Amino acid sequence: MKKVGFFRSIQLKFVLIYVLLILFAMQIIGVYFVNELEQKLVTNFKSSLQERVNLLEYNLREEMLKERTADMPTLEQDIQKILEDFSAPDIAEVRVIDARSRIIGTSDPTKQGTIGQRTTEISVKRTLSVGAEEDKMYVDEQTNKRVWVLTSPIISNREVIGAIYLVGKVENVFAQMDEINEILFSATALALGVTAILGVLLARTITRPITDMRRQAVALGKGNFSRKVKVYGQDEIGELAVTFNNLTKRLQEAQATTEGEKRKLSSVLSYMTDGVIATDRRGRVILINEPGAKLLNVSRETVISQSITSLLGLEEEYSFEDLLNEQDSVILDYSNEEGPYILRANFSVIQKDTGFVNGLITVLHDITEQEKIEADRREFVANVSHELRTPLTTMRSYLEALADGAWQDPDIAPHFLEVTQTETERMIRLVNDLLQLSKFDSRDFQLTKKEVNFTKFYNRIIDRFEMTKSQDVTFKRQLPKYPIYVEIDTDKLTQVLDNIISNALKYSPQGGQLTFKVEEQSNAIVVSVRDQGMGIPKKNLERIFERFYRVDRARTRKMGGTGLGLAIAKEIVVAHDGDIWATSVEGKGTTIFLTLPYELSQEDDWL
Ligand code: ADP
Repeated sequence: MKKVGFFRSIQLKFVLIYVLLILFAMQIIGVYFVNELEQKLVTNFKSSLQERVNLLEYNLREEMLKERTADMPTLEQDIQKILEDFSAPDIAEVRVIDARSRIIGTSDPTKQGTIGQRTTEISVKRTLSVGAEEDKMYVDEQTNKRVWVLTSPIISNREVIGAIYLVGKVENVFAQMDEINEILFSATALALGVTAILGVLLARTITRPITDMRRQAVALGKGNFSRKVKVYGQDEIGELAVTFNNLTKRLQEAQATTEGEKRKLSSVLSYMTDGVIATDRRGRVILINEPGAKLLNVSRETVISQSITSLLGLEEEYSFEDLLNEQDSVILDYSNEEGPYILRANFSVIQKDTGFVNGLITVLHDITEQEKIEADRREFVANVSHELRTPLTTMRSYLEALADGAWQDPDIAPHFLEVTQTETERMIRLVNDLLQLSKFDSRDFQLTKKEVNFTKFYNRIIDRFEMTKSQDVTFKRQLPKYPIYVEIDTDKLTQVLDNIISNALKYSPQGGQLTFKVEEQSNAIVVSVRDQGMGIPKKNLERIFERFYRVDRARTRKMGGTGLGLAIAKEIVVAHDGDIWATSVEGKGTTIFLTLPYELSQEDDWL
């Protein structure tokens, strides 16, 4: 957290406000007080001088009106005496002037020489002529001090007999005022200092909870909800602190809920089998779940902020806007030489109520298997139709020939009927095989197993073929002499061996040999039938166990096969938890192998 410096803190602002307020108040008080006081002092000064001048006037009038004899002191001497008594610290000089403007006395000892001269003061002349009092204040140029000059007439019987000219030292009053100002100033300074200190302390009581809350807010921003603001009081700030704490609690709860939802969402996303990709409003990937990355064979980190169209390989056919408007699902065919790989993508737009597009959610689903099943089903239907159509067409043409009159021809009619009969039988065989396969495909298919001696069981089947065979083929048996007990469904396994042996006989040349073998292994027996026929090309070996697969269609169909025999055999062997496969050398012969589970130990227990 960045610390707020003192110079930018609320505390300083508080202190400044205090100080400024005090300063302002002191200013107003000061100006008013100083003005009033000054006026009062000046007025007092003036009136005190005035009173004294009045008294002086009275004394002077008495002296000036007195009848003088030769033995008496002169008027000037008397006046001088009066003026000497009159002198006071606040008076600079008092002059007395007679009616003819002649100075007849002055209190200033340095100006005794002016006695007897005519005055030059205009104010005195005015007073003498008008008989009115006059006063003025000015700065004496010589001393550079303020003085108050009063000119007062001496009146006797309504006649101006002289004037008093008084210069008062009003500067003293101002000096006094300055002293008072100084006191006021230092008092103000003291008050400000004390206020500033008090301000700092008081402001702290307000700023401390605020600072606390600030710290708390910063901690909240970092996701720390454990802190609490201390509540200092019941005032507004206290209430704010309580509210703040409540807010923190709410926020914590909301955060916990959000986290929980987030966790739920992310586990749903990672445990679902479908791939989910979310983009922002410009189509850049912001989220992809693990299955999504696996389906697209990309790493989650590298695709973030890649555009969705390029990620899906759709940039040539679709723009992001097209995807936003895409109602149907889009099929993504990533099939290559290695095999088919098809995904289905569904898009849904995340939109606000206002219609503003926030992004796009893409759900990917692997439909390779589904597509394969679909393709197999189509192929199967095509195969069945084809297999049925061939015998039906043959039958129709023979029946048409018969209807057209061939039935009357004793030479060909029996042959034609025989053909239709063979074809009918073939169709019945085909339908039976199909029914059997569909039974395997249905869920409720079950084997009825029982324990048999496999050597005996196998020998019997070979015996049957040996007795009924029409070709010149020798049978060679390589079976153990002792019994091998296995648990099998004998009917079903008879069908399997019948099919394998009849195939071997079918493809055996004249004078060929069939070899029957049973080998014991640790947990299985391997049964094999080897012929010396024309063999099967290597590339077709795997496929002969597929439904309807024939190596050479035309020839095998002629032999009456349906192409389903080995497919059924495989279903049965696999249902026995065994395996079936073929090896072959073209032109030399084919060997069909099958394994059946077998437990040696069980046998030992019996012995
Ligand atoms: P079918 O009923 O046509 O014989 P199968 O499923 O039994 O059908 O066999 C599938 C195909 O495998 C046959 O059409 C044939 O081409 C080939 N095949 C099976 N057994 C042999 C064998 N012993 N020698 C050569 N080819 C064989």
